[in-house]
Amino acid sequence: MTEGKIVKISGPLVIAEGMREANMFDVVRVGENRLIGEIIEMHGDRASIQVYEETAGLGRGDRVVTTGAPLSVELGPGLVTNIFDGIERPLERMRLLTGSNITRGVDLPALDRDKKWHFHATAAAGAEVTAGDIVGYVDETEALRHQIMVPVGVEGTLEFVLTGEYTVEEKIGTVIGKDGTRTDLHLMQKWPVRVSRPYQSKLPPQIPMITGQRIIDTLFPIAMGGTACVPGPFGSGKTVVQHQLAKWSNVDLVVYIGCGERGNEMTDVLREFPEITDPRTGKSLMERTILIANTSDMPVAAREASIYTGITIAEYFRDMGLRVAVIADSTSRWAEALREMSGRLEEMPGDEGYPAYLTSRLAQFYERAGQVVCKGKDGRIGALSAIGAVSPAGGDISEPVTQATLRIVKVFWGLDASLAYRRHFPAINWLNSYSLYRDRLEDWYSKEINDGWNGMVAEITRILQAEAELDEIVKLVGVDALSSEDRLTLEIARSIREDYLQQNAFEDTDSFSSLEKQYAMGSLIFYFRKEALEALQRGADIEAIAGLPVREQIGRAKSVPEGETAAVYAEIRSEIDRQLAGLVRV
Ligand code: ADP
Ligand code: MG
Repeated sequence: MTEGKIVKISGPLVIAEGMREANMFDVVRVGENRLIGEIIEMHGDRASIQVYEETAGLGRGDRVVTTGAPLSVELGPGLVTNIFDGIERPLERMRLLTGSNITRGVDLPALDRDKKWHFHATAAAGAEVTAGDIVGYVDETEALRHQIMVPVGVEGTLEFVLTGEYTVEEKIGTVIGKDGTRTDLHLMQKWPVRVSRPYQSKLPPQIPMITGQRIIDTLFPIAMGGTACVPGPFGSGKTVVQHQLAKWSNVDLVVYIGCGERGNEMTDVLREFPEITDPRTGKSLMERTILIANTSDMPVAAREASIYTGITIAEYFRDMGLRVAVIADSTSRWAEALREMSGRLEEMPGDEGYPAYLTSRLAQFYERAGQVVCKGKDGRIGALSAIGAVSPAGGDISEPVTQATLRIVKVFWGLDASLAYRRHFPAINWLNSYSLYRDRLEDWYSKEINDGWNGMVAEITRILQAEAELDEIVKLVGVDALSSEDRLTLEIARSIREDYLQQNAFEDTDSFSSLEKQYAMGSLIFYFRKEALEALQRGADIEAIAGLPVREQIGRAKSVPEGETAAVYAEIRSEIDRQLAGLVRV
């Protein structure tokens, strides 16, 4: 253990001397209050320390003590449903201990030391085990079975493993190594946050992560284990999109990192999520959610850590063979923390003052996503998807954080201020957004949903592009110059935008659409188009077609509950037939 002395304090940055024995990334305790910090730079015996708590009151000459360990998280039962700060301190238990103002230097472990969990052993004494092998489980919540795995670095013969009631620190079994060393197993393990957890191999994307958000699932899908970003100006709907993904995605666990955006947004999550029923389990959504909260009133350095804390927890659950999503709102606030520390370290600034390593840091986060064959002999597959919001100042996506993110992630959902202003939500711009997974997932859609799915998607894309081109012509020469067919294309494009892509997050029957419902809705719009084209050819008037009352019914199709779509949409089809027939009977 090294002990040094503070020589300089600059906001969250503290420089200490006498630290020769310390290691890069060691956690240190700073000053009388034992504030928590991390060494982020070493020069001889001088250490630069990022302090995760308010540094007011520290002075030159105050003591700095290393703990000799890197910033690590506790992994075990008790994480799910909980809310932590950026360095995994349990906010609720801290509040009970210290009141609503977090007292500095509080040393509360992430996982409750007194709580007993029912551990059910599934491995047997005498078994040969290696890292990642499952020895038993704890039903942590009604929605989540928490597998207890042999920690990385442990290998040998299981001497015993016993079902029973245990705290996270009590021994549940023992492994005897080849050389006779004995390692006790516990419900809890630790892992350094800046190191990714190992797996056997990475798999290419094979299946979509289904979000129930039509524009995402249909046009710009994210693969299970994929990466995506949601850039958009203030008020364009980034947080709503991310809440929707957290609520509806077909994953087993969501780690939601609220990173320095408005404080009340985390309160929204805390108020809403417990009341929402997870459609897959029928239980409260919190039973599959872990929250990392870093509101704007918390020190900037803790934001930097929160991204790593969140993704490390997510990897641990992925290692159990689960599907996990990490959702970070917003990575811009995180990048600003990076910029602030870099400035205080007097590093050479890059674009707009961000450090030159901005891209590599972002990559280190997103590269931890993926679909993998987990450690352990059973060859189970786990997936970790990562989705980050980006809030470029003034919505200008040419700024460094958005640009760096776009170089890394495979899906871009670009939110548009003008769409949000027109209350077209989700305000995802259909002309410039993209998904590099769409082609790879085509086989899956035609096999699992409908062999017409990919054709429908291509047709939607084509019509929206045609609309953009026709709009240019209309601007020049007016709508009357268009042929009836082109005017019908414009009508269908409008229907796709308003009746299909627009989706109200706050309306119960519209908030989530299954892929089956999405396909049925799209097919309905295209049925109308086909019949309308035929009516045109038989002499019907385009104005009359555009004004048919059945179009209102198509517009309301999104609000039809999942179970009733088949019957209601069939009725709408006959209404389409009837009303179009009425037009050509003249
Ligand atoms: P940002 O995080 O980009 O600042 P928000 O996610 O807070 O923006 O969204 C701003 C507002 O836009 C929301 O309060 C809501 O009124 C509206 N909004 C965004 N998305 C939707 C949606 N899918 N359905 C309905 N309203 C939405
Ligand atoms: Mg927001």
